Amino acid sequence: MTARAAREDRESGTALVRRARRIDRILAQTYPDARCELDFASPWQLLVATILSAQTTDKRVNQLTPGLFTRWPDPAALAGADRTELEETLRPLGFYRAKTETLMQLGHRVLADFDGEVPRTLADLVTLPGVGRKTANVVLGNAYGVPGITVDTHFGRLVRRFGWTTETDPDKVEAAVAALFPPKDWVMLCHHVIWHGRRRCHARRPACGACPVAALCPAYGEGETDPVKAAALVREPRG
Ligand code: SF4
Repeated sequence: MTARAAREDRESGTALVRRARRIDRILAQTYPDARCELDFASPWQLLVATILSAQTTDKRVNQLTPGLFTRWPDPAALAGADRTELEETLRPLGFYRAKTETLMQLGHRVLADFDGEVPRTLADLVTLPGVGRKTANVVLGNAYGVPGITVDTHFGRLVRRFGWTTETDPDKVEAAVAALFPPKDWVMLCHHVIWHGRRRCHARRPACGACPVAALCPAYGEGETDPVKAAALVREPRG
C-alpha cells in the first residue's frame, strides 16, 4: 500500500470532512475574489458562454461575448442567425463550426421547448444541445443560485490530490464531494478549488512550496517544494 493510500485508509469519515472543510476555508481566504470567471448578465448569457468555453479560456470567451450578445441577444436571434456570419464570429475560439451548430440548435430548443427561458432544473438543462451536467451545474449555481458541484478538469484533479475521493468518473466525483460539504457551500467551493487549480495546483507542476493548504494535502511534493521556485509557478490564468 502506498503512503497516500495508507493515509486515506486511516482517515475516518469525520476526519476527512473536517480536513476538507479546513482546506475550503483556507482557499476561501486565499482567493476572496473567487467567482465564475465568465462574464454574463443573464442565465441565457451564462449558458452560451459556458458552452463556448469548451477547449478555450474564459478570457477569450469574455473578449468575444459582448459583440456576440449585441448581434444575437436571445435564443430567437441565435436560432435564426446567418450561419456563415456566426461561424466567423466564433472562429477565434476554435471548433467554431461545431460551436455554431450547437448555439443555433440551442436557440431553437430553448425557444421551442422552454418558451425562450433557460430551464431551472438539471433534468431539463441536460436535454439541451451542448449541455452536460457540468454546464448545467454552472448555470444553476451561478445564474439561479441552485446548489451544484461543477466537476471540470481542475476540480477533478484537485479533489483527488486532496484525497477527498479516488473516483475519476465526474458523476462519482460530484457525489463524493457533495457528501463532504453542505449544499449551501457547493457553488463557492467549486470556485475556490478551480481558482486554486488555475493559479497554483497546476496539472504538470503544482506550486506545492507556495501552497496555503500544503499541510493538509496528501499530494504535497507532487510539484515544486522549494518556496522560491514554487512562488515563480504561481500565475494568473492565461488569456
Ligand atoms: S500541496 Fe501541491 S498538490 Fe497539494 S494542493 Fe498544494 S499545490 Fe496542489
